[in-house]
Amino acid sequence: MAPQIKYTKLFIDNEWVDAKSGKTFETYTPHDGSVIAKVAEGDKADIDLAVAAAKRAFHRNSEWRQMDASQRGEIIRKFGDLVERDLKYLAELESYNNGMVLAYASLFIGSAVNNIRYIAACADKIKGDTIAADGEVFSYTLRQPVGVCGLILPWNGPIFLFANKVCTALAAGCTVVVKPAEQTPLTALALAALLAEAGVPKGVVNVVNGFGPGAGTSLTHHRDVAKISFTGSVEVGKLIQQAAGANNLKRITLELGGKSPLVIMNDADLNLAVPVAANGVFFHQGQICIAASRLFVQSGIYDKFVEAAVNYAKGIKVGNPADPTTQNGPQVDGEMMNKVLGYIEKGKKEGAKLLCGGNRIGTTGYYIQPTVFADVTDEMTIAKEEIFGPVQSILKFDTLEEVIDRANNINYGLAAGIFTTNVNNVLQFAKHVEAGTVWVNTYLAFTPQSPFGGFKDSGLGRENGMDGVLAFTEVKNVVVSLPKKI
Ligand code: NAD
Repeated sequence: MAPQIKYTKLFIDNEWVDAKSGKTFETYTPHDGSVIAKVAEGDKADIDLAVAAAKRAFHRNSEWRQMDASQRGEIIRKFGDLVERDLKYLAELESYNNGMVLAYASLFIGSAVNNIRYIAACADKIKGDTIAADGEVFSYTLRQPVGVCGLILPWNGPIFLFANKVCTALAAGCTVVVKPAEQTPLTALALAALLAEAGVPKGVVNVVNGFGPGAGTSLTHHRDVAKISFTGSVEVGKLIQQAAGANNLKRITLELGGKSPLVIMNDADLNLAVPVAANGVFFHQGQICIAASRLFVQSGIYDKFVEAAVNYAKGIKVGNPADPTTQNGPQVDGEMMNKVLGYIEKGKKEGAKLLCGGNRIGTTGYYIQPTVFADVTDEMTIAKEEIFGPVQSILKFDTLEEVIDRANNINYGLAAGIFTTNVNNVLQFAKHVEAGTVWVNTYLAFTPQSPFGGFKDSGLGRENGMDGVLAFTEVKNVVVSLPKKI
């Protein structure tokens, strides 16, 4: 049964309101492409109202600014409890609007709850320093919230990313305007209701659904917005960096795409490496920025590995994301499905060896077979561009030195992984690979405490963990003149 859709309006100043223009847009389920709701379509006028509400809530005399940091943490922790209380409903709504397999949606939201609890505990751990300054002065620093923040979300992990971005901003004491992805507007609204229930004062969190040109650009160009935290494509990330410098100098955090290398050495435990590598690229139908989309396998085990990888991929059950036995669901929409199918055609045309999959499944919904290409070379399009689909590309290498250079020979640098039982290989690879996260004998392993972000075109700054909270702060130095040195 389809989950109930409780909220479709904009959330501004803790009120549910229609868009000023009265416009709405349709949102779909990728299972069969049918319309599931009409959602208010925010634009510049709505962003202006939301930013004004966030600015009022950030005034030095406001309830939020006067609140103890520990109380902010308490509200965030309560929010985590409410997300956990409603986990089943939220997972169903996420799966319905996004196509994420229900079981994984539940896992993802469970991880989000762990993150929220960690972040809640950070709120009253933010601190400044006393400085051993020269002369007759007392010099210290304050860590203060940066101000009103615009949080722009992609469609691939709507709840997880909403929770991380909003809670780190709130822990730092900021107020926010959230612009969810136009493909997945529903769960952000459900979370906004839970934030209000948790006791977030009015104006502190505002959610304006809408499109990139319109709601998105109005937020990134708004003079009263001090920071933009964005997750999405490299292309839009670059536009956001330009917009951030166009009037006021906005702080920015960018979490962008990837083409992450996963390296399997001859001495790796294949019983572990084969399923982890498959999960690393097929999880959520490949729609994750950290997908292990360049799988480098050393020549001594190459043939054996490829055979096992193909067998594994053939066993993945694709189907309705609401079915508890399903492992892979549909791509988020027809546009993404066609983009992925286009990459598969390019792979075939450029000479990669298609060993399984390669086609759309059925004619309704946006399902693609888990696909494995072997004998992929570095110059092929499928080895260079982010596919964002269930496509495993296997490349052969001979030496560690060679594979480090090839792994780095790309403008992305989000994540990397290595499977080996040799500690020297681990240390070499971890030191020299250009990536914000390096996994060793594992992949997709996240903890709430660890920072996340990219090198090169994969992003700017770090999110998550205490680094993520501090990214929403400014450092202020206070220098007090003293009659004599103390
Ligand atoms: P996108 O970058 O187009 O959109 C992400 C968010 O930015 C959405 O909320 C969108 O409305 C907004 N946006 C778009 N243009 C904007 C602008 N000019 N100013 C301000 N906001 C704007 O990403 P997408 O369309 O969801 O996907 C496109 C590609 O991005 C995918 O094919 C994939 O390669 C990549 N992607 C990466 C991630 C990731 O987590 N790294 C997530 C989703 C998509």
